[in-house]
Amino acid sequence: MEGKSIHAVVRIQDRDHRRLVGDEIAGRLLAMLPGLERHSCESGSAHGIVAELTDTETAHALEHLTLEIMALAGSPRSLRGLTEWDFARDGKGVFRVSVDYDRDDVAVGAIRVARDVLEWVMGQGASVDIETAVTRLWALRG
Ligand SMILES: [Zn+2]
Repeated sequence: MEGKSIHAVVRIQDRDHRRLVGDEIAGRLLAMLPGLERHSCESGSAHGIVAELTDTETAHALEHLTLEIMALAGSPRSLRGLTEWDFARDGKGVFRVSVDYDRDDVAVGAIRVARDVLEWVMGQGASVDIETAVTRLWALRG
């Protein structure tokens, strides 16, 4: 099946949390999810995803983390995502993230895990046991 995508509205009230900036954050994300290096990115810079992760919208990182976690949980790596925002239309700090999926339950779960990873990397939450999280998502496939 093609053409299925999940749309998430991401509201980030705190201006300081709307962007991820820094080599350290990118390094922590890549250490946890090395497959991110293989992502292509249509909406980001021409320097590739690794450079993009050193300075990008948090919601854009959420998109790529979600796709990577889905891939680890068995979804095709060909799936794509998109992050858009129009603060004038939607309000400040509102981002629209869409991600293609093969299984909606895996996609929803992956978004949650991606959010947890971002909270951790931004110093807002506990570290995430990716292996356990991915195993749980795999189990949804039955
Ligand atoms: Zn991208």
